[in-house]
Amino acid sequence: MSTTVIVSGATGFIAQHVVKSLLAKNYQVIGTVRSTTKGDHLLKLFNNPSNLSYEIVEDVGTQGAFDNVLKHHPEAKIFLHLASPFHFKATNIEKELLEPAVNGTKNVLQAIKDYGSGIQKVVITSSYAAIGTASREADKSVVVTEDDWNAITWNEALENPIAGYRGSKTFAEKAAWDFVKQNSADVKFTISTVNPTFVFGPQAFEVGQELNTSSEVINSILKGSVPPTKGGWIDVRDVAKAHIIAFEKEEAVGKRLLLNAGRFNAGLLVKIIKEKYPQIELPDVKEEVISLATIDDSKTRKILGFDYYSLEQSVYDSVKQIIDARK
Ligand code: NDP
Repeated sequence: MSTTVIVSGATGFIAQHVVKSLLAKNYQVIGTVRSTTKGDHLLKLFNNPSNLSYEIVEDVGTQGAFDNVLKHHPEAKIFLHLASPFHFKATNIEKELLEPAVNGTKNVLQAIKDYGSGIQKVVITSSYAAIGTASREADKSVVVTEDDWNAITWNEALENPIAGYRGSKTFAEKAAWDFVKQNSADVKFTISTVNPTFVFGPQAFEVGQELNTSSEVINSILKGSVPPTKGGWIDVRDVAKAHIIAFEKEEAVGKRLLLNAGRFNAGLLVKIIKEKYPQIELPDVKEEVISLATIDDSKTRKILGFDYYSLEQSVYDSVKQIIDARK
């Protein structure tokens, strides 16, 4: 019998790649999705494999949201929690970002504690946003590692949707580590977190007009507008691989896996696209030197033990997929 893995937010950009990788390794996968329409569509995208099914979790933030998922699947051994709001459009930051992220994470862990005695390992998709403090990012002399925490406060997170998202990831991850500490006498499962910087790379299947927040950076350049984004990046296929290593390798237990392949800014992305696709009309962007804090992710790279996609390859694959879809 193959091991059963529950994946929350299975329709998401990263989660679809995670599901793809799990199926390729013959795991039995239960995805949580918000509706039957979304679940049926997901099954169709994967061509209805016998080792993929779904459960409905309309809103991760509702108390008891995951209870039924765990009750229905006593055979599950692994839980990967990816569902969390990632957008910068919130008008009510507390309700739309902070509460679903934090309560969603607590609901997963509480449901496992109450009904998921078979779960041995939990992987939580956190973010580099929970590691790097925004004000320190621009300081080249700062070195950021897996041991750092974003120093953002709840009130600072309420200032704007970007801070809101960064806060949501910070407080949700803190809630997870606190939960296992406080319940160490009662729970058997271990946790690890995956903390990616901006995730680029192709969609697992479909390309819509507007893409998930991180993929929209490249999509919007192709649509002619340049986002003022800069930071770290990592390819989605490497992020999916890391989610699997996070529960397969014992060295990953209790660790925060900081995933970063390098730094980027919009100017660099435009330059890479221009070199490969000179026929595409792109906005003009002044090339600026990228001067940001240094990320030392050596502990993570040692655990993962594989090489990441290059920025060029990641961008080419995304751009090709988008232009093919628009033909
Ligand atoms: P997506 O927006 O593509 O995926 C998010 C998923 O979560 C979707 O399936 C969405 O469902 C679901 N979701 C969101 N809010 C709720 C809710 N309240 N109740 C139930 N389901 C919900 O984003 P990504 O794939 O990029 O993000 C996946 C995870 O990775 C998130 O935790 C994100 O914070 C994290 N991450 C992403 C990075 C990136 O650059 N992409 C970087 C670092 C971390 P639906 O679409 O149906 O609303």
